[in-house]
Amino acid sequence: MSSRILLVEDEPGLVLTVTDLLTAEGFEVQSATDGPSGLARALAEKFDLIVLDVMLPGKNGFEVCRELRQQGRDVAVLMLTAKTQVVDRVVGLKLGADDYLTKPFHPAELVARVEALLRRVKHDNLAPVRGFSFGNVEVDFEKGDVKKNGTPLNLAGKELQLLQYLIERRGKVVSREELLENVWEYQSAVSSRTIDVHVAWLRQKLEDNPQNPRHIFTVRGVGYRFSV
Ligand code: CA
Repeated sequence: MSSRILLVEDEPGLVLTVTDLLTAEGFEVQSATDGPSGLARALAEKFDLIVLDVMLPGKNGFEVCRELRQQGRDVAVLMLTAKTQVVDRVVGLKLGADDYLTKPFHPAELVARVEALLRRVKHDNLAPVRGFSFGNVEVDFEKGDVKKNGTPLNLAGKELQLLQYLIERRGKVVSREELLENVWEYQSAVSSRTIDVHVAWLRQKLEDNPQNPRHIFTVRGVGYRFSV
């Protein structure tokens, strides 16, 4: 499902270009052109992120942001501030904005900020798994200890991170692309082959029968799924 973004901006030209830009990136974009209607939509509907201009008719971006937080909405907010207003950034962050971008901005910069913020939000929404057990395996992610049948195993850092990532999303299909982005953070020389090799190592160490895994499943053409 694509992320929903609310753009609150009163310059028609900017509304058009930003909407086009984010839609082309696969986001669902709605817009409001003044403070009060922006706030009303943000309160009434579910959005993953709000791109909020500071200078708006009716109610400025600071007020909108403050009222959103006062109403208990923790939606991610990216503020658009004018270059001359040095103080905007500080005030915006104080009032609960998650990030800011100074106008005029490069389109690629906006897309990068939006994606980074959405990633952060999605991460934060997951309860981090500190310890986990499945089959005859026990994992303590904080200490980095893994035991199978009570016997300590040696897992490399990436193997542990990969295992934790899959376990935190257990029951769900995780694509190789997602793993490349979030576990390997797009390191150069890392390919989907690297992921497959790490998965094979994990199976070798953790599964009773690595050829016929009971926990780390391959989802053909997509990626992997962990199951208890
Ligand atoms: Ca404006």
